[in-house]
Amino acid sequence: MHEMSLAVAVVDQVETAAQSRGAVGVSSIVLDVGELAGVVPDALAFCFELACAGTVVEGAELITRTVRGTARCAPCAGDWEVGMPPRLLCPGCGAAAAELVSGRELRIREVRWADSEAGAGRRADPEAPREEHRHPITEES
Ligand SMILES: [Zn+2]
Repeated sequence: MHEMSLAVAVVDQVETAAQSRGAVGVSSIVLDVGELAGVVPDALAFCFELACAGTVVEGAELITRTVRGTARCAPCAGDWEVGMPPRLLCPGCGAAAAELVSGRELRIREVRWADSEAGAGRRADPEAPREEHRHPITEES
């Protein structure tokens, strides 16, 4: 199962990083997943739950971001989104000499540690006013 081995690899990498920085928890992991990588996000989320059980990663939120597949044409240098199923003929000149530029990536983009100093601040007070001070001039008529 492709997603299972991917999930295990992600958990392994984050665990290693957590050990080296002495983190005790992970709040979320952002993963870039190319649309041509053959990963089913729901299956990945399910496997991730299994893979992180009992590790420091347990309870972390997995956020997957889809990276669009793009290809570039060698003869005319045009590029386009290949879509799903992938269209590999150049829409400009019809050449089949496309080179995939993106869409197959599988990488950890960001890890938010549960115990990081930034997250431990008291600024996340739910009672705190919002950043946006939108106090419209209330005209009670
Ligand atoms: Zn072309």
